[in-house]
Amino acid sequence: MLTPLVTEIQRFSLQDGPGIRTTIFIKGCPLHCPWCHNPETLNHKNEFYYYASKCTSCARCVKVCPSGSLGLVHVKNKMPAITIDQSKCVLCMKCVDACFFGAREVVGKSLDIDSIVREAVADKMFYQHSGGGVTISGGEPLLYPEFTLELVRILKTKEKVQVTIETSCFANWDKIEPLMKFVDLFIVDIKSMDSEKYKHVIGGSLQKILSNIENLIRLKAAVRIHLPIIPGFNDSASDMEAVVEYLGQFADKLDGVDVLPFHSYAAGKYAQLGREYRYKGINDLPIQKVIPLVNALKQKGVHQVTVGGIIGTTTPTRYEGDIGIMTMPYTPNKKSMDSQTQRG
Ligand code: SF4
Ligand code: SF4
Repeated sequence: MLTPLVTEIQRFSLQDGPGIRTTIFIKGCPLHCPWCHNPETLNHKNEFYYYASKCTSCARCVKVCPSGSLGLVHVKNKMPAITIDQSKCVLCMKCVDACFFGAREVVGKSLDIDSIVREAVADKMFYQHSGGGVTISGGEPLLYPEFTLELVRILKTKEKVQVTIETSCFANWDKIEPLMKFVDLFIVDIKSMDSEKYKHVIGGSLQKILSNIENLIRLKAAVRIHLPIIPGFNDSASDMEAVVEYLGQFADKLDGVDVLPFHSYAAGKYAQLGREYRYKGINDLPIQKVIPLVNALKQKGVHQVTVGGIIGTTTPTRYEGDIGIMTMPYTPNKKSMDSQTQRG
């Protein structure tokens, strides 16, 4: 069984499904959305953060680096700067071990499934009181179908917690169907209704994703749709009309739709990973921009539409169609916008 690295097991998570939750972030994703808000989960391999503000330019890391990736550049009247040539890095992590100042940190832990479950259910009593549970997110959990199936099986049958998966649904149906027995809620991203954009910008197949969503709905799984709205990619009137038209067909069958306006809070993570952030300098999307989309979805009969997602709502642990979950207001909610998670 192929076991993924885990970037984080986040306790008291309030954005990744109903109630108080623990979210397991899997490292690795088959897509490459250029705005990804969790860029540390894109690559399935280990990597490291570099915190420039903690670095003293002592150059211990430069001395131990076996591949010559790291360098020290002297700048007049300033502390020397540490440089990295990512193309030479062999991910040995010797630089992380050598740093006494916490300026380098490994991203991605290798954990066995029992340890993940143990940590994930440590807050079980909070799930029971809030209608929460455990969310498997990423990255893309479906990239590791056997691991994910075993994880949700243990969480559902042994630990008896509410289980949610956040996914792009970009996988073969035979990897998704077995999960239905153990997963209470599928949260699925739709990033565009344009198959060319999916193919060329994101690297996935829209047809496969929609077919999987439709299969889940047909088989009466609880499905909640996430709509990340990204400036210049899918924020035009025609983009929004297309997604409203599509989701309108399933309005009464969906658990709900969460509209997630673009924000640039992930910029710091790109810098720490030494990656280019293609949305640098692009402003957060004003909430007013998505209000017509929210209203159009409501008019089509989608019974729960939020901006920013369901934040810590209290719901039953098992989803059975329309159970009247609290609907978030459509007005800006600074706290929820600051903390929301948008998968890439
Ligand atoms: S060892 Fe740490 S503090 Fe020293 S130069 Fe490298 S990153 Fe900076
Ligand atoms: S992880 Fe990369 S940069 Fe760090 S010591 Fe190894 S090769 Fe050098």
